Amino acid sequence: MAEPDMLVASTRIPLSDPATMLEKLCSHFAEHGTVTRDGGIGRLESPFGTVELEAAAGALHVSTRSPNLSYLFVVKSSVAEHVVEFSPDGVPVFAWSGDGSSVSEIPFFHRATVRSSRRITPRMQRVTLAVEDAGKLEDGGLHVRVLIPPKRRVPVWPSIAGDGRVIWPKGEDELTGRVYTIRSIDKARSTVDIDVVLHDDSAGSVWALSAQPGDPVGLTGPGGGEIVLADWYLLCGDETALPVIARIAESLPSQARATLLIEVADDGEEQPISSAAAIDLSWLHRNGAEAGTTDLLERAVRAVEWPEGVVTYALIGCEQVQARALRAYLRKDRALPKERHIAAAYWRRGGEPPLQERD
Ligand SMILES: Cc1cc2nc3c(=O)[nH]c(=O)nc-3n(C[C@H](O)[C@H](O)[C@H](O)COP(=O)(O)OP(=O)(O)OC[C@H]3O[C@@H](n4cnc5c(N)ncnc54)[C@H](O)[C@@H]3O)c2cc1C
Repeated sequence: MAEPDMLVASTRIPLSDPATMLEKLCSHFAEHGTVTRDGGIGRLESPFGTVELEAAAGALHVSTRSPNLSYLFVVKSSVAEHVVEFSPDGVPVFAWSGDGSSVSEIPFFHRATVRSSRRITPRMQRVTLAVEDAGKLEDGGLHVRVLIPPKRRVPVWPSIAGDGRVIWPKGEDELTGRVYTIRSIDKARSTVDIDVVLHDDSAGSVWALSAQPGDPVGLTGPGGGEIVLADWYLLCGDETALPVIARIAESLPSQARATLLIEVADDGEEQPISSAAAIDLSWLHRNGAEAGTTDLLERAVRAVEWPEGVVTYALIGCEQVQARALRAYLRKDRALPKERHIAAAYWRRGGEPPLQERD
């Protein structure tokens, strides 16, 4: 029996070879959690919940339990996506029963409308979005995926199919998704600020520059986890990470210390950063070099004097190649354990946004 505060759901998936499907699911999910096997039964455990799989005659029985609706949705949709991916006989027809069965919208999807859009530095645009309940964007992480609908069309937002998969609008209704940090939350006004780096005529830049009051936009998240507690922080990145660095710095208590290394185009991109903590802030100027092409961040990080005998945490967000170099430095040279740092590729030079490459 599930614990009383757990949400539970189950389904029966008709399959010609349920045992092989069980094998495939178990080996796939072993990358994301702990898998235990007992004959025709498989059990998958992850922070999102538990999944039990049982191969029976002509069907795979799946039962899940998760601590909240968002996690339950993640577990159900992920099982459904992979069953469809691994199914050799076309798309099996099945539906979930139990908690969340009547939910037709992603639990962490939020409808928003543009309140205002204004330039805060020559290359940074602040878009203020009104949401129904800004408090819902406080927990779970610091960034969201902004879903930009096509201009002059009534937006079609993602919905959940009976089998748990997400139905994304296609064709003329296709949404453009871009990941941005929530720079600040104003619960009284129920608004959030998003600071968008302007570059070229990219989808994100065009959206931020042309955003008009009342424009609809979707948000999924927040994700990426909460601010990790430490005595000393290294917060480092280019201008795409400036919003997260500033937000973290603002949240730190007075007894914390932080070294901030921020790469920007030039001094016109510097922003005031306030904090109760003791902050050592350095701006690194590219002075004409293209974003993502310098070793300014790496040299600055290598020169940092790491404090001894205190709990430390390092956050780095920048271009993919730079992030990889810095991640290797933190892991190999500084021997930082996984839970004490994150070096994330926030964007990829000359290409599509990285698929949340973080570790
Ligand atoms: C967790 C997380 C938080 C983030 N927070 C923010 C944030 O608060 N503000 C913010 O502006 N960005 C943020 N980013 C980065 C942002 O998601 C990417 O820069 C994204 O690629 C922007 O989309 P786009 O439509 O502007 O460009 P894309 O359509 O993705 O790319 C078009 C072209 O522009 C290049 N490009 C992409 N980003 C940049 C850049 N910054 N400078 C120069 N060239 C670029 C690409 O290489 C590509 O050639 C964040 C990313 C992550 C993963």
